[in-house]
Amino acid sequence: MALCKRRGLIFPSSEIYGGFANTWDYGPYGVLLKNNVKQAWWTDMVQKRSDIIGLDSAILMNPKVWEASGHLTEFTDPLVDCKKCKKRFKGDALTGTACPECGGDLTAAKQFNLMFKTNVGPVEDSDNVAYLRPETAQGIFVNFKNVVDSTRVKLPFGIAQIGKAFRNEITPGNFTFRTLEFEQFELEYFVNPKDADKQYQAWTKARLKWYEDLGIDKKKLRLTEHPKSALAHYAQAVSDVEYEFPFGWSELEGIANRSDYDLKQHAKFSGEDMVVGEEKITPYIIEPSGGVDRATLAFLVDAYTEEEVKGETRTVLALHPKLAPIKAAILPLVKKEPVVEIAKKLYEELRKEFFVEYDDGGTVGKRYRRQDEIGTPYCFTIDFETVDDKAVTVRDRDSMAQERIPISSVAEFLRKKLTT
Ligand code: ATP
Repeated sequence: MALCKRRGLIFPSSEIYGGFANTWDYGPYGVLLKNNVKQAWWTDMVQKRSDIIGLDSAILMNPKVWEASGHLTEFTDPLVDCKKCKKRFKGDALTGTACPECGGDLTAAKQFNLMFKTNVGPVEDSDNVAYLRPETAQGIFVNFKNVVDSTRVKLPFGIAQIGKAFRNEITPGNFTFRTLEFEQFELEYFVNPKDADKQYQAWTKARLKWYEDLGIDKKKLRLTEHPKSALAHYAQAVSDVEYEFPFGWSELEGIANRSDYDLKQHAKFSGEDMVVGEEKITPYIIEPSGGVDRATLAFLVDAYTEEEVKGETRTVLALHPKLAPIKAAILPLVKKEPVVEIAKKLYEELRKEFFVEYDDGGTVGKRYRRQDEIGTPYCFTIDFETVDDKAVTVRDRDSMAQERIPISSVAEFLRKKLTT
């Protein structure tokens, strides 16, 4: 958290006014990192697959959506207060009957709806209530017919969406892990009911692998299947991808076989049919639903490394090059011509294609350390030799190994590292 603040990755929201509990702002490097997480997901889900298309639906929706989905009645947590210390708990997280903090008496559990309510228009009354969506999935379900009618999709196919969601959580916390406002990446994959189990199995494996491929330590990732007895009535199966955070194993993403519940509910409440093909099948839905902020936090936590180098502590964010906010730093070894001119030219060339930084302030050691802390995978240094041999030294963030490569091949070098 200290590094995130110091290096401009994540700041407490509204900090000059004392902050606003459980809301966070992404700083200059944080926004690049989070955009890269979203881009990696979008590329893998939408761009690289011919069976998945994208969508961007509105946050505010007709309140009937939440009636049909069950959120108005079911999207609740049991709220329990301690009569003595006034601390608030989620009922299902408590084991005993006394307050775990002070041993005081607890109130009976009250069901508390997690949706943020607002009003549309100037007058607040019950006719113009609207909700901030608590998940992006419903925007996909209500557009199912539009997508089927306007494109040439055939089962199995998916609709993917990234967007903000809001939950009035009873017990938020653990930095950006559980917040009131967050982003989700959700895929609704529509399948023939007879293929649902096979597709569910395939998606659980694919989603676990996605985090591994982006560099997360395999030993800190696992899939946990929910017991049948704990499933919502419509769910056939649910597995979570979990990461071992410093505060324990916690969910990054849930993969669910949701049966045909969602489409059938919306068909019932809207009167529109929600079927595909000659056989008029109501597809089953396999839903991998993840949190962008949680994934970003896991990538950050996993990448954070402190190591001893020549008696000093080196702090490194060993992020996958695809996720690193800055892909390369261009560092002239001396502040003299023509070294500076060559370095600036390389910088101007590269920034057309990549987020790169130019830095000529302080010792090269200090400049490396700064880039290590924000996770920049490569540093290119330009020196007097460059003038004659038209080559630069590239220094690898993780191994700190250095090699000399032609200046004309730098862009290609980066391109290769960012696509593998
Ligand atoms: P949890 O059990 O942690 O509350 P959930 O099972 O309610 O999560 P889902 O409704 O399945 O979560 O939402 C899908 C994903 O959205 C979660 O896996 C998580 O990554 C993200 N998410 C949900 N709630 C929050 C939140 N309050 N803050 C940040 N991310 C969230």
